[in-house]
Amino acid sequence: MFKVLFEDGDARVGELTLRSGVVKTPFFMPVSTKGSVKNLSPEQLRETGIECVIANSFVLSLRPGSELIKSHGGIHKFMNWDGGVFTDSGGFQAGSKDFLEEITDDGIVFKNPYTGKKELLSPEDAVRIQEEIGSDVAMVLDDMPSPLWPKKKIEVSVERTHAWAKRSIAAKKDNKQLLFGISQGGTHKDLRERSAKTINSLGFDGLGIGGLAIGETKKNMFAALDATLPFYDKDRVRYMMGLGSPLDIVDAVSRGVDCFDSVLPTKSARRGTIFTFGGVVHYKNNKYSKDFAPLEEGCDCYTCKNYTKAYFVHLLRVHENLGLTLATIHNLRFMQRLIEKIRDSIKQKKLFEFRDEFKKNYK
Ligand SMILES: [Zn+2]
Repeated sequence: MFKVLFEDGDARVGELTLRSGVVKTPFFMPVSTKGSVKNLSPEQLRETGIECVIANSFVLSLRPGSELIKSHGGIHKFMNWDGGVFTDSGGFQAGSKDFLEEITDDGIVFKNPYTGKKELLSPEDAVRIQEEIGSDVAMVLDDMPSPLWPKKKIEVSVERTHAWAKRSIAAKKDNKQLLFGISQGGTHKDLRERSAKTINSLGFDGLGIGGLAIGETKKNMFAALDATLPFYDKDRVRYMMGLGSPLDIVDAVSRGVDCFDSVLPTKSARRGTIFTFGGVVHYKNNKYSKDFAPLEEGCDCYTCKNYTKAYFVHLLRVHENLGLTLATIHNLRFMQRLIEKIRDSIKQKKLFEFRDEFKKNYK
C-alpha cells in the first residue's frame, strides 16, 4: 500500500505498492488516454524514467471495449507496459460537452460517439470497467462541477460525488486493484472541507483531489487544496488530478501532495514547447535554425544526448513525426528529473530551498 519514508515539512517521499510493482512518490504520470502516450513506444517511455501512466477507462470502454482488454490479459499486456497504470473513471470525459447528455443521481448519461446512442455510465459501471481493464489503480466516478457554477449547484454535485463514492466501494470486487476516492467542492473552502472529510472517512486506498487546475486562479486553486489536505489522513497517498505545471507541482508537493497527472508536458511537446530548468522555450520560429546545442544543456535524455536544436527545428518545420517523439521524450524526462530533484530535496530536508531556487530560474 503506501508508506511514508522521508518528510520535510508537509512534503513526503514514500512508496506506493501496486500489483505491478512499487512506485516511489512523489511521481508524475503522463496521460495515455487511449492506451498510448502519444508518439512514444513503451521502451522510449521507460527510458525517460517515468514509472506510471494514466489511461482513460471510459474512452477505452468505447473502443476497443473493456472485455477485449480483459481477454487480452489486461491493460499492461495490451499496452506492453510493465510500469504502473492508473485509470480515470471517465467522469471528466463523459461529463465534457463532447459526450454529455445529462447527469442524474444514477450516473452520467452520455452519447456514444460511435453508435449515436444514449448510454448510462454509473459508478458501478466505472468500477466494473476498470476491473476488466485491470489497471493498478481505479478512480471512482465523480460529478465534477465547474468552479464557475453557483455554489448551490456545486453543493449538489459534491453530495452526488459522495453518494457515488459509497456505491463505488460497495461495487468493488478486485482486491488487488486499488480504488481511490475523489473530493470536490469547486473553490469553496467549506465544501472542500466537507468533501475531504467524507471521502477520507470511506476507507479508500488513496485520496484524490478533483476539479482543480481547470481554469480557476492559482490563488483559489491552492486555497482549495489547503482546505482539503488537513482532512486527509497522512498515511494515505494523495493524488491531485490534472496538475502538470512544473511550478505548481513543486508548490503542491510542498503542501503534501504525492502524485500528479496532466497532458501538459506531452501536449506542449507536440506544439514545439520545450520544458527546461530555465523555463519553457517555444520552437515556433527559426531562431534556433543554426543552433547546434542540445535542447537543454545538462539534460541526460535521449534527445539531448543525440540531437541539436537546429535538427529539432528542422523536423518541426517539415512536419516529421520524429520531432514530436524527440520533444515528448525531452519533456517527460524533464518532468522525471524535476521529480527526482524534489525527492532528493525532501530526503535532505531542503525542499523549500529547492523550491525557491527553482522558482527564481524557471521563467
Ligand atoms: Zn533533454
